[in-house]
Amino acid sequence: MNFKAFLNTFSGKAYTMPVVILYVTEGCNLKCLSCSYRLPMPGELTLSEIEQLSRELKAFGLKHIVYSGGEPLLRRDFRDICSLFAEIKVKQTLLTNGLLLLKRAEEFNGVFTEIIVSLDGADAETHNRLRGVNSFDLILEGIAKSRSINAAPQISIRTVLQKQNFRQLHGFIELAKQTGVNRISFLAADVQSEAYGRDNLEVRSQASESGTMTLDNNEVQELKKIIYDVSQKYENEFASGFISESPEKLMHIADYYSAINGNVEFPRNFCNAPMVSAVITSTGDIHPCFFLPKYGNLRENKFNELINSASIKKTRSSVKVMEPDRCKKCVCTLFIPPRAALMDRF
Ligand code: SF4
Ligand code: SF4
Repeated sequence: MNFKAFLNTFSGKAYTMPVVILYVTEGCNLKCLSCSYRLPMPGELTLSEIEQLSRELKAFGLKHIVYSGGEPLLRRDFRDICSLFAEIKVKQTLLTNGLLLLKRAEEFNGVFTEIIVSLDGADAETHNRLRGVNSFDLILEGIAKSRSINAAPQISIRTVLQKQNFRQLHGFIELAKQTGVNRISFLAADVQSEAYGRDNLEVRSQASESGTMTLDNNEVQELKKIIYDVSQKYENEFASGFISESPEKLMHIADYYSAINGNVEFPRNFCNAPMVSAVITSTGDIHPCFFLPKYGNLRENKFNELINSASIKKTRSSVKVMEPDRCKKCVCTLFIPPRAALMDRF
């Protein structure tokens, strides 16, 4: 039982912080059209700073660390970082573009509970074009390698469905089945926020430029038809959770693009990310989630000084009623129901 986490779900105050997403680096070895992360930020948190942070997080009830970036596997001391969190006995998940899995999977044997690999195309041509680097084949080899190691983690594919790949929805599901991963999940492209390095205005306008990623009205209708077909064909895969989202949830992706075109309201979101999690960047900034602005820096204040500052408590209260505009248009929500929090399901 986790009564503190249960209380978090009702309150602007954090009694504990069970989930932390840590960007171990903001350097990346791909060149996605929708993201400007390329080189590491100057002054990344050092291993000893991360060690100190791991103790502070443990003291505040950390249960699950999710490594993100940039590309975490690019960081040379990433294995040492994982050892720090293994010592405090928390669940570890890796979000990766998969390019270095083939080379480094063995090194991480037994470390991760889950590896989530991003794929933007169901074929090499589409994926490589959207990701800016010939990486598709190497990523599939990396997935196979990760599945073959002794203590193989759960492996998931995550795909951003957008204008240039939505017609491959069947193909993505078939690919996931062929690769033997445990599940596949889909989300819409975030074209509105400054996340994913899009405080870089050039990349931001490139990503949101009409016709680049978002679907026009005809394409929205086409996507709805494809989702309907998929829901008929893959009934078992939906029922088993192999496809993470329900058909209704997939329809929300079409509705999101329809809302961007001004036709309907954005689908109603439910999210309590700031109540149960925090995002920490490679230079120690702390955010309520991937999208909302930072509320401090861990080089200036300790974690437990920041986690209940007046500004984040105010943010939590406003997220609770989905007040921020970003929340209304968000593509990547996190909702831990109070009961799941009580049962410590992080
Ligand atoms: S979206 Fe991910 S894989 Fe692509 S450039 Fe950005 S950090 Fe790298
Ligand atoms: S809805 Fe999105 S922007 Fe709002 S708190 Fe949740 S993750 Fe952040």
